[in-house]
Amino acid sequence: MKEAKPLPAYLSTRYQGWKATTYSENKAWYRRLAEEGQRPRAMIISCCDSRVHVTAIFEADQGEFFIHRNIANLVPPHKPDGQQHGTSAALEYAVTALKVANIVIMGHSSCGGVQGCHDMCSGEAPELEDESSFVGRWMDILRPGYEKVKGIEDRAERLRALEQQAILTSLENLMTFPFVVEAVENEKLSLHGVWNDIANGELLCYDPKSESFVPV
Ligand SMILES: [Zn+2]
Repeated sequence: MKEAKPLPAYLSTRYQGWKATTYSENKAWYRRLAEEGQRPRAMIISCCDSRVHVTAIFEADQGEFFIHRNIANLVPPHKPDGQQHGTSAALEYAVTALKVANIVIMGHSSCGGVQGCHDMCSGEAPELEDESSFVGRWMDILRPGYEKVKGIEDRAERLRALEQQAILTSLENLMTFPFVVEAVENEKLSLHGVWNDIANGELLCYDPKSESFVPV
């Protein structure tokens, strides 16, 4: 692999700073984490978007959250077809091996993945319909969500509704995995859906009673 290069300076400098301060001041804690293994309380599934700062929002410590990120925080439906499913693998490990108590699906405002799905479904982004588009095929998961919101006239409102559909679709798809269903039914696992407004730092949580997202 001759293409791999040394780390750029902005990364190596920051790493050295972390090693000299945070790590060095908490060395015993890191060693304990290494010896005892991880026992995270929650799995968080969020978008890859660099503005969604999951660990900062929940003030995460090392070892607390098992985090999986993908385009538009989507959980695909359970499909045991012998193919490679990264999100399903992370989910299986979190629920069956780590036995996390909570799974939080975290969506966010101005999500590029959701916008791509919107534009694909409305005919504005035909390139995403191509079979070779990984983003397009991934966003197919959200097509049924688009059908539910396409009647909303205002584009910004429609996009926000689709961002929230991405969270609901993921929650519904979680319940297609037999090991998730079993853990939920045995009250060992609870599922949660939140939406983060990047501009004002707001976090809304899905409330099944009112079938809407309410402030945390
Ligand atoms: Zn996103």
